[in-house]
Amino acid sequence: MNSEDVKRIRELLSSPKKIVITPHKNPDGDAIGSSLALWHYLRAKGHDAQVIVPNDFPRFLKWMPGSSDILIFEKDSDRSLGFIEQADLIFTLDFNDLSRIGGLQEPFEASNALFIMIDHHQSPQPYADITYSDVSMSSTCEMVYNFIEQMGDMRLMTESIASSLYAGILTDTGSFKFSSTTSRTHEVVADLIRHGADNASIHNQIFDTNTPDRLHLLGRALNNMVILPEYCTAYITLSKKDLDEFTFKKGDTEGFVNYGLTLDGICFAAIFIENSDNGHIKISFRSKGEFSVNEFSRTHFNGGGHTNAAGGRSDLNMEETVKRFREILNDYKDRLNA
Ligand code: 5GP
Ligand code: MN
Repeated sequence: MNSEDVKRIRELLSSPKKIVITPHKNPDGDAIGSSLALWHYLRAKGHDAQVIVPNDFPRFLKWMPGSSDILIFEKDSDRSLGFIEQADLIFTLDFNDLSRIGGLQEPFEASNALFIMIDHHQSPQPYADITYSDVSMSSTCEMVYNFIEQMGDMRLMTESIASSLYAGILTDTGSFKFSSTTSRTHEVVADLIRHGADNASIHNQIFDTNTPDRLHLLGRALNNMVILPEYCTAYITLSKKDLDEFTFKKGDTEGFVNYGLTLDGICFAAIFIENSDNGHIKISFRSKGEFSVNEFSRTHFNGGGHTNAAGGRSDLNMEETVKRFREILNDYKDRLNA
């Protein structure tokens, strides 16, 4: 954040405000972690703050301190709209385009609140009054840590804030292994542990709460994997039938896409998941090295994200989607083999 923005936000937060905090739809660890950390912090500063998420989040994030106070717009739209109408300030976290918040887009566009964006995705849209965007950051959680530091409020860092931020950095860095993980990331994480984040327990609560169904679904996903060595690509499909067979629950497929990248010689991985709610195919893309899945998804699959992790969707059925994907791969053959 530049010093002008820091000054402006310090001034804004110097008197009690009504504040809404919202992350993207299908919120992940970084989205929920950064929102809850900011919520604990703003409340400690005497503000009236509320986290509103567009839709529900996975069970392995529900241990987070404050998570039961989160309003889910899809389930509780009237109360959510009440908070949005009253809000002086709206913080949007871990996304940068209002099309990423589903049904909240309309009330946000109609709101007179001042918008503050904190985000690390590419191509930020100019909807916010104050934009703290940095694509070099490991996670929005690392940015919220910087934010609290720049507000001069490190004395307000509590165990709840530290645990929430730790969880988001942990998940968005793939347990500190993605190239976005810097020495600064490790310094921040060290300080979070110093402030009470119980690293072993957080890791356990996020990654070691598998159900038999989820592991069996993973088995199916790995069985369904198609490997295309000539394109350095591996992709997985999961049909509605696969999901139903293993009583799919939100979050169960988290991380599946990464298995493709563990194959020697594979630099591009995708997973296609049939979504029973809306008939779309939900897609996740991951890459290693220079190949930009952000660009790939933005150009062909209505999505976006980061260089090495992006999401997208397709309105065709599974068979047609995969056929199209394989045709598109042809145009990227040189780049994938670079
Ligand atoms: P995932 O594959 O885990 O859903 O998403 C990977 C990354 O891409 C996350 O940082 C997520 O926020 C972002 N992302 C997922 N779907 C979309 C999308 O439709 N549009 C944009 N711009 N980003 C997305
Ligand atoms: Mn993130």
